Amino acid sequence: ARQRLVIGNWKMNGSLADNVELLEALRAGADVSADVAVCVPFPYLAQAQALLETSKVSWGAQDVSVHASGAYTGEVSTAMLSDFNCRWVLVGHSERRSYHGESSELVAQKAQAALQAGLVPVVCIGETLQEQEAGETADVIAAQLKPVLALGPQAVAKMVIAYEPVWAIGTGRTATPEQAQEVHALIRAALRELGAEQVQVLYGGSVKAANAASLFAMPDIDGALVGGASLVAEEFLRIAAA
Ligand code: 13P
Repeated sequence: ARQRLVIGNWKMNGSLADNVELLEALRAGADVSADVAVCVPFPYLAQAQALLETSKVSWGAQDVSVHASGAYTGEVSTAMLSDFNCRWVLVGHSERRSYHGESSELVAQKAQAALQAGLVPVVCIGETLQEQEAGETADVIAAQLKPVLALGPQAVAKMVIAYEPVWAIGTGRTATPEQAQEVHALIRAALRELGAEQVQVLYGGSVKAANAASLFAMPDIDGALVGGASLVAEEFLRIAAA
């Protein structure tokens, strides 16, 4: 069986002052069988490290550069994330794809760079509302996965995949467990075909304590990538314990 994994994506939220309470609550409360992690804004990595180091909660970043170092103003390298003992890094979040024009090829390169640095890339994929309504979900998922799967079974085996339908992100409109499972089964089939069936596939998009258990009951949903609800310790911990 695959280990349950629940990752919080804080997105561009938090402050040095506010984070203390949230991180301390996670440190105190994450006594659950699931693996629990938070992906915080870059400036708060040191704070997350300091407050979570002796806890069961691991931490990571929300993006990373494909470049190792040099003249790339504003970018952050995999080595910098390793300096703060990050375990995880999100790559290809839909907000990066849509607001920063990240292609699936670039996302695959980021995943590869992360792996080379010993980080676990959490590769985010998902269709837009327009694509879903046009019946294109399977094609979009396959196209987004293609350059990632091309990295080969040994690389893919060390990744995590997160399926986040764009229409469910921050909208309060969660995919039904059956709807999510249908896409997770497609992803699982592609992973199986490659020889990387044990990769954890997380669901993301308006996950809350109230819907987590029914999502987690699906055979191919191994956990969640949680946005808004990860900013409230009690809610996030209830998802992790669901
Ligand atoms: P919400 O949980 O706020 O819908 O965000 C999901 C998400 O994008 C996590 O990466």
